[in-house]
Amino acid sequence: MKYNFFPPIIILIFLASCTMKPKVYDDTRLIMDTLVEVKLSGVPKKIAGRGVEVVFNEFNRVDRLMSRFKPRSAVSGFNNRFEATLKVDPELYNLLKQADEVSRVSGGAFDVTLEPVITLYNFDETKKVIPGRRKLDEALKYVGYQKIRYGADNTLFVAEPKLRIDLGGIAKGYALKRAARLLERAGIGNFLINAGGDIVVRGLKTDGSPWLLGIRNPRGLGIIGKLRVTDTAVVTSGDYERFFFYQGRRYHHILDPKTGRPAPLCRSVTVIYPDPAAADAYATAIFILGPEEGMKLVQSVKGLEALIIAQDGTITKSKGFKYEAQQT
Ligand code: ADP
Ligand code: MG
Repeated sequence: MKYNFFPPIIILIFLASCTMKPKVYDDTRLIMDTLVEVKLSGVPKKIAGRGVEVVFNEFNRVDRLMSRFKPRSAVSGFNNRFEATLKVDPELYNLLKQADEVSRVSGGAFDVTLEPVITLYNFDETKKVIPGRRKLDEALKYVGYQKIRYGADNTLFVAEPKLRIDLGGIAKGYALKRAARLLERAGIGNFLINAGGDIVVRGLKTDGSPWLLGIRNPRGLGIIGKLRVTDTAVVTSGDYERFFFYQGRRYHHILDPKTGRPAPLCRSVTVIYPDPAAADAYATAIFILGPEEGMKLVQSVKGLEALIIAQDGTITKSKGFKYEAQQT
């Protein structure tokens, strides 16, 4: 039902393109706890209106599937399983497999099974909660991406009954990937989708130039540089997104699976990579690994580029990460 107006869109765009002047159409909505902004360039208003709805619907669909807070989601189904062997939703199976790949290349820095540790903290509420060493160690016993085994036909084997997953480090990127695919299938080829700083772009702006993005200064209001991109994803993980201060220390939401504590080495990591889901996971992984180990990971994955701002403010970037630095 949801997508049955796609074929008309393609025809309408074709017809309309000779009669209407192209403009950038812009709309924003709050989904997955995030401001999701869609910019469509060179699309007539009526079709653009439907296009943005497609994006918002897709974000809502991915949220219903991948949120651990929604009792009927595929993720909740997994977390509340009764058996060690279970068949899961094919999209969940594939996304977990993709997460598993990033876990392996990052030596376990990225790990979706960190849920028992994540729930010990409280980053969203005004009440600050910092778990102690003993609690963290207890929760870490149930953590480990290697504890999930992948069988044929969307079947998973999980020997640890207390293993639970949280896809907060990859789900937004996955929603971007699916939404971008739907727009392309609808014949819309020039767009930008921004989910709270995680961005996918296709084609060009109305004036024929690449999309222009700013890399935020993690300790200020301005930007540290500008980026011109097309047909890729640009994803940032930062310690300034969800955090609180306690006794002069910053506690943020990207946790190191080795310790269960906020990863201390970076302020922010921005990656460029064609697949938005992988980009999302890599940004989180590199953030945890830090500049040195993180850059080694970047060099081991073809097409992956990154700019890392270390905890002391030092900027390191891979060779292919082209940007215009800006004084702040
Ligand atoms: P954001 O969601 O702000 O863009 P990230 O993509 O870096 O930031 O994801 C952070 C989220 O990922 C956390 O809120 C948590 O749900 C989850 N997470 C935290 N630490 C890890 C980790 N080491 N591996 C995988 N996911 C993590
Ligand atoms: Mg991420």
